Amino acid sequence: MAAEGIDTAKVRSLYERELETFRRERPRSTALRERARRSMPNGVPMAWMVSDNDVPVFVTEGKGSHFRDVDGHDYLDTNIADTSMFCGYAPPQVVDAVTRRVATGTQFLLPSEDSIWVAEELARRYGLPRWQFTLSASQANTEAIRVARAATGREKVLLFDGHYHGHFDEATVTLDSGEAAPFGRGLPHDVTDRVRVVPFNDLDAVRAALAPRDVAIVLTEPALTNNLGLQLPVDGFHEGLRAEARAAGTVLAYDETHTHIVGPGGCTARWGLEPDVVTLGKSIAGGIPLGAYGMVEALAGELELEGTGHHASEIATGGTLFGNPLSMAAARATLGSILSDEAYAHTARLGTRLADGIQAAIDAAALPWVAHRFGPRSGTTFAPALPRDAETSRRSWDDRLTRTLRLWLGNRGVWEAIAGAGPTMSVPADDDDVDRYVDAYAGLLAALTDRGSSG
Ligand code: PMP
Repeated sequence: MAAEGIDTAKVRSLYERELETFRRERPRSTALRERARRSMPNGVPMAWMVSDNDVPVFVTEGKGSHFRDVDGHDYLDTNIADTSMFCGYAPPQVVDAVTRRVATGTQFLLPSEDSIWVAEELARRYGLPRWQFTLSASQANTEAIRVARAATGREKVLLFDGHYHGHFDEATVTLDSGEAAPFGRGLPHDVTDRVRVVPFNDLDAVRAALAPRDVAIVLTEPALTNNLGLQLPVDGFHEGLRAEARAAGTVLAYDETHTHIVGPGGCTARWGLEPDVVTLGKSIAGGIPLGAYGMVEALAGELELEGTGHHASEIATGGTLFGNPLSMAAARATLGSILSDEAYAHTARLGTRLADGIQAAIDAAALPWVAHRFGPRSGTTFAPALPRDAETSRRSWDDRLTRTLRLWLGNRGVWEAIAGAGPTMSVPADDDDVDRYVDAYAGLLAALTDRGSSG
């Protein structure tokens, strides 16, 4: 549970110093937070917003790859709202589309033609013919699970240790000392009965979990990008997973909410995956709320109502604002004119430069760490090799160091990705942004080790 090669006392004293500076230089954010505490738990609109931030800043505006806080600080944003703003702040295409839609009606509880365009485009990118829309990735996952349960007549969900798919009941089940356990309070005590959790990259464990033939769906990110850094699949893992799911009659679903940043069609297209379901959310509508799930014909058939004549066969899906025309207009603008092949190529090039810069800083400081490489996203494993499962990842996890890095970067105009994720270069980012991150990052490593360049 600590980074390799680092003096923990030094990390602690740097943390204290950076925290003091961060607070002192943000008097307006601090005052707003004090006022906000009286009307909102934790003084923020979503209590969780503080979990990662020693001092949450209040924001005024964003443009491109940067945002400003109420104290006038400019940040290069490498969190990009946990990838939901991968297209950057206020992209003109989305601003235009949304402005037009706001002026002509945002919601009718009836379809707009844009929804067809978006479904067709997602079908082209992900190779799955039929799509449904929600307002978030969590809701897309919730509905995908429900459709799989209806189709298979089974209840259980198979997830991988280290997963994140949202905060709905099943997705809160995690492994604690090898046993399934709910993460956090407020959950039904029997939630663990509905879920199995096995280590990522472990096909034997997958086979054993599917063997009772009671698993409706296996849901995973193609590479785990949440909570514990980056865990890439080993060779043959996805082929094996496909074969095991097919043999067991289990639906295979990939959650590409984060991983789509590697290219059009995400890892599904890039790695030639063959899912029955793909779920998406966050940045697909340029920051306007939208979730989506695509599926094979056989699963889509479960949702067809026409011809059944009654609602007894209906699967409980949907929400009043799901798939609304505003979200659809934003998604059409985003997919049609922002998330192009060129945009993905540009962010991948910046991501490679970022990873090279991080690795060079690590090497200059002679630390036994390794940079992540995942398209536009990088980051650091505080150990010599990338972990392939959550247990290995937990061993080098270092909360204090992660918080110190966030404060250090924040004090130097860089907003770091949330803990467990890594810095990502957004579509409007440029080479100067990469340099800004790497310079600040290298400065911290030099300060921690007295080696490398000081920043
Ligand atoms: N799936 C993945 C892979 C995610 O990373 C997240 C959010 N971090 C979600 C689903 C849930 O997204 P949301 O909170 O927007 O519903």
